[in-house]
Amino acid sequence: MIQYKRDRRILSVWIGGVLFLMLLTLSNCAEVPVTHRRGLHLVSNSELNTMSLQEYDNVIKSSKLSTDQGKIEMIRRVGTRIAKAAEAFLEETGQGQKIKDYQWEFNVLEDEKTANAWCMPGGKVAVYTGILPYTHNETGLAVVMGHEVAHALADHGNERMSQGLLTQLGGQALSTALKQKPQQTQALFMAVFGMTTNVGILLPYSRLHEREADRIGLLIMGRAGYDPREAIGFWERMGKTDQARPPELLSTHPAPDSRIAGIREILPEAIQYYDQSKMKGK
Ligand SMILES: [Zn+2]
Repeated sequence: MIQYKRDRRILSVWIGGVLFLMLLTLSNCAEVPVTHRRGLHLVSNSELNTMSLQEYDNVIKSSKLSTDQGKIEMIRRVGTRIAKAAEAFLEETGQGQKIKDYQWEFNVLEDEKTANAWCMPGGKVAVYTGILPYTHNETGLAVVMGHEVAHALADHGNERMSQGLLTQLGGQALSTALKQKPQQTQALFMAVFGMTTNVGILLPYSRLHEREADRIGLLIMGRAGYDPREAIGFWERMGKTDQARPPELLSTHPAPDSRIAGIREILPEAIQYYDQSKMKGK
């Protein structure tokens, strides 16, 4: 009898927990453009954008900006086309009101040893010169920038920040965490957005987020007029690097081998967008 009562109590606690999570999920979900998955957002995007602007300012001030006009112009040219295509997807999926949240900026950070790129909430993008030997040309660059912009478009940062606040900072609200544990919160933010730091943790993207960013990223690049088939070559080059010292992008992104098979599946859809963009260009 006692056992039965305890079992019932455990069951009701369990059901209560599930209901609470369902309620939390329903009330805090936002739809991802293109894939229509609903992700858990415990942080408001406006709060995240404010933090993003501050952190972006810090990174830009403490980094060496490239003065190579050729590289700067190339990254801005590719970035602008990618951003335009990304906004078109937001518009099409009924999320046009989000476009105003993006004030796009594209910077080149002079650091030959860092093969990395990121896009913060609000459209602040940085490309490290160390990734250019892998991208080879503008289409290769569109693979990386399309992928990073896709993470931002899908609000993966919000989901990762929400999870981090729950698991690492005791479920605090972002504003409280910033006041009470500024350093940990800042380190979590950097880790969440795949930024290279000397201290702190690296937080790998989940397979779900990676597949989503690969798909949205390839559709964006196709729509922007870049041949999405180039993605295979880029990830192959990334995979051939020194395994003892892998590029930073690979510290937060799963192995290229497992990714390429997935990319092949997405390619037909992305090529359709690419073909349409060529027709429009004529
Ligand atoms: Zn990624």
